[in-house]
Amino acid sequence: MNLTNRSHDHLGRRRGIAVATALLLPFGVVACASDTSTETDDVGDLSAVTTTSTEPATTTTSELAPPAPTEPVATTSTELPTETEDDSTSVDDQAVQLSEDELAGLQWMREEEQLAHDVYTTLGDMWGLRIFENIASSERTHIDAARDVFDQYDLVDPAAGNELGTFRNPQIQELYDQLVADGNASLTAALEVGALIEELDISDLRERAAATDNADLTTLYAQLERGSRNHLRAFTSQLELRDVVYEPTYLDVAAYEEIVTSPTERGRDA
Ligand code: MN
Ligand code: MN
Repeated sequence: MNLTNRSHDHLGRRRGIAVATALLLPFGVVACASDTSTETDDVGDLSAVTTTSTEPATTTTSELAPPAPTEPVATTSTELPTETEDDSTSVDDQAVQLSEDELAGLQWMREEEQLAHDVYTTLGDMWGLRIFENIASSERTHIDAARDVFDQYDLVDPAAGNELGTFRNPQIQELYDQLVADGNASLTAALEVGALIEELDISDLRERAAATDNADLTTLYAQLERGSRNHLRAFTSQLELRDVVYEPTYLDVAAYEEIVTSPTERGRDA
């Protein structure tokens, strides 16, 4: 009895030593556990003892591996659930995602801004009129503003690195090809192309803005629309100088008149 009790006490201390050794030397855990199991050989089946003594030792090794070897086991076990909580928290904290419609709208507007820029650059080269170059420059600030939203939401910019006059969306590509061909006819036709792009832009921006309550998108669309209203005023006045009365296609006459009869708006990109 006394001998058995002492033996248990001795075994308990030996296990304590084995764990302490494992804390200091994680890679020596299996060897320590084997030593301990040797102490219990007299109790019975070797394979059973080896299995039971190896399992906790292996678990201890994997738990001890990440932190510093001298840290207590209790600290290690509280660290693991904390890491899991951190992961779930970071998922919850991610930015609001765009819906499919919002993303499709943003992609369309992004390429439409590129369409405006590329058409004006091409028509400017064709006709040498300053207004095309100036407005193309303004479109670059609109492109940058749209690009910022793609970055903010970690989304791929559909027009990144496009060659002039090359678009991913086939409808935009078709528009580009048609509008450049139309603008090739005469200078006034080129200015009418400009007015057409701007009223299309305004019409599309209003439609997209009405379909979302995402503040990042409505802010972007408001900024782009202010620029477009000024561009529409500029193209319209260039046409008036040449005695051409522009008739809107995408905006109704009242909406068009409201814009072109009101003064130019101030803004860093207007
Ligand atoms: Mn624009
Ligand atoms: Mn514009």
